[in-house]
Amino acid sequence: MNYLQYYPVDVVNGEGTRCTLFVAGCTHACRGCYNQASWRFDAGLPFDEAMEQRIIDDLNDTRIRRQGLSLSGGDPLHPRNVTALLPFVRKVKALCPEKDIWLWTGYRFAEFSPEQRALVDYVDVLIDGKFEQAQADRTLRWRGSRNQVIYYLKV
Ligand code: SF4
Repeated sequence: MNYLQYYPVDVVNGEGTRCTLFVAGCTHACRGCYNQASWRFDAGLPFDEAMEQRIIDDLNDTRIRRQGLSLSGGDPLHPRNVTALLPFVRKVKALCPEKDIWLWTGYRFAEFSPEQRALVDYVDVLIDGKFEQAQADRTLRWRGSRNQVIYYLKV
């Protein structure tokens, strides 16, 4: 898996101060997508062990208290990305148990595959659904169009 961007201190993608990872690759092709450069799976840089460790170190850094990790893209739940992200989110929950994980996907919750569900088991807050230009609403928090749903999975 490749990633496009990593923000070690982010206050716009989820609640609180967060580490945010934008993974590469998406096949939804939403009209009006905010970042078509994220569709390619070979965009950005390889998500390697050093990058995993950097994120875990940032989450555990006591100088800047992060509430958790945000996973966006691209699509973190594309089958090619799920394979790489599942062991990573497992590790995050084991090594940073008090941190929450937010995840944005173009897939619908009701239609997840068993592999996608296995990853979402580690996710605290999920925002699902494609970006629908006809339902776009700039006043919404954490989502771009009204069809998208925020699931608070651990409350
Ligand atoms: S799911 Fe997100 S990244 Fe993928 S095409 Fe739609 S808006 Fe763009």
